[in-house]
Amino acid sequence: MAAWLEGVEGLTLKGQIRVPYTWWVGEVGSRFLMALRDECKILGNRCKVCNAVYVPPRKNCGRCFVNIDAWVELGREGVVTAHTIVRFEYPLQPVKPPFAYAVIKLDGADVGLVHIVKKDLERLRNGVRVRAVFKEQRTGHILDIDSFQIV
Ligand SMILES: [Zn+2]
Repeated sequence: MAAWLEGVEGLTLKGQIRVPYTWWVGEVGSRFLMALRDECKILGNRCKVCNAVYVPPRKNCGRCFVNIDAWVELGREGVVTAHTIVRFEYPLQPVKPPFAYAVIKLDGADVGLVHIVKKDLERLRNGVRVRAVFKEQRTGHILDIDSFQIV
């Protein structure tokens, strides 16, 4: 053993690896993303038992466990119900900081949609109204909505 190894501990560090993958979003997710891509529309769906409107839409109601097949078009506006401002860069972020992750309860929906706010972060508060801004080039991805802007 080399002399310099004496007293050296075998330390470890925790890390993460990035693993690219592709997965099928299902027929409900596909319809939702196609509406974003092709029509700049945000679709939700309504449970026929409890009338809850989900966005993103779900195949089954999380409350009643029944299949959902009633689609509703939601508006582009809603209210921020929770948020956090991101100031430090991390490899898996959707955009460069600063930006905010926000839970947005779109008008007509009963659950929040998680998305991002990129501008006017100093004005961002829970309760502010925001509007979806769509990208010009859309691919069938949640980020076809570029971000939400405070109205
Ligand atoms: Zn239900």
